[in-house]
Amino acid sequence: MASQTILVTGAAGFLGSHLCDTLLGEGHTVIGADNLSTGKTANLEHLSSEPRFRFLEQDITRPFDPGKVDYVFNLASPASPVDYTRLGIETLQVGSVGTFNTLEIARKYNAGYLHASTSECYGDPEVHPQVETYWGNVNPIGPRSVYDEAKRFSEAAVMAYHRYHGVNTHLVRIFNTYGPRLQANDGRVISNFMMQALRGEPLTIYGDGSQTRSFCFVSDLIDGIVRLSRSSEHLPVNIGNPDEWTILECAKEVLAVTGSSSEIVRKPLPPDDPTRRRPDITRARNLLGWEPRIPLREGLQRSLEYFRSSVAVVA
Ligand code: UDP
Repeated sequence: MASQTILVTGAAGFLGSHLCDTLLGEGHTVIGADNLSTGKTANLEHLSSEPRFRFLEQDITRPFDPGKVDYVFNLASPASPVDYTRLGIETLQVGSVGTFNTLEIARKYNAGYLHASTSECYGDPEVHPQVETYWGNVNPIGPRSVYDEAKRFSEAAVMAYHRYHGVNTHLVRIFNTYGPRLQANDGRVISNFMMQALRGEPLTIYGDGSQTRSFCFVSDLIDGIVRLSRSSEHLPVNIGNPDEWTILECAKEVLAVTGSSSEIVRKPLPPDDPTRRRPDITRARNLLGWEPRIPLREGLQRSLEYFRSSVAVVA
């Protein structure tokens, strides 16, 4: 495809930085916006001498004009339960005002638009695995609501810009993803377990560890997002790995990969913690010809070096 100018919001984050790498690798010019509230400049350091990359320190809840762009990937938001609970109001603002501001950029420049939505739209799901047609079971006032409702509101805003303004929009519902550059101290299960295992500290299982998640390696996720951005599909598409693990099984995988002899301890289950989560990826398979390729064991191995170096950096 012809070389494009692409805006990526949340560029200094885990997924944003990997997306920038992929787009630059394809020959595009990338403007990476981030207000660094949870993103890290270290994730973009390797691009400092890349002439086709420009970093824009920008809070997207304030209107801004990056100049003419052909495509907007809107990934900006605190995303781990620890971060979005700490930054609750900011999360609501970025997932409402920020989404409008970036949609306006797409409208102004007649650019394509992809919004990073989430499996949290399904809340604690009664339908399993989760299909895109399921409307979800979300607590609108619980501790997770700042994230869940912001993302659900964003989906409504994106669909409205498609319906009322004809913007070429895409909605990806992202399931748990991990890999190098996942924030080492953001409290997520993979980062916690990897860091704990490598430090020889106990692995903290919340609740009885029977709750499930389905973990997708970052390169698979980015491949799915990029494919969706170039498709003609405007309705939400799940991207995630349907291989489902209990949290206890996940802890054992981490112990096996790290060779750690850490013990496992129990901690209280946070409120509204979904009991199960697994994407139905039939739509992604059919519409995008997409399929995750990297199993959990291999993805954890590929992440090992990154978490080892993080142990040295994060106190
Ligand atoms: N979890 C855990 N120990 C940890 C961190 C998380 O048992 O140290 C559990 C958490 O309660 C949840 C699952 O792992 O059931 C995934 O949590 P995470 O914060 O990664 O993201 P979520 O999928 O809940 O958004």
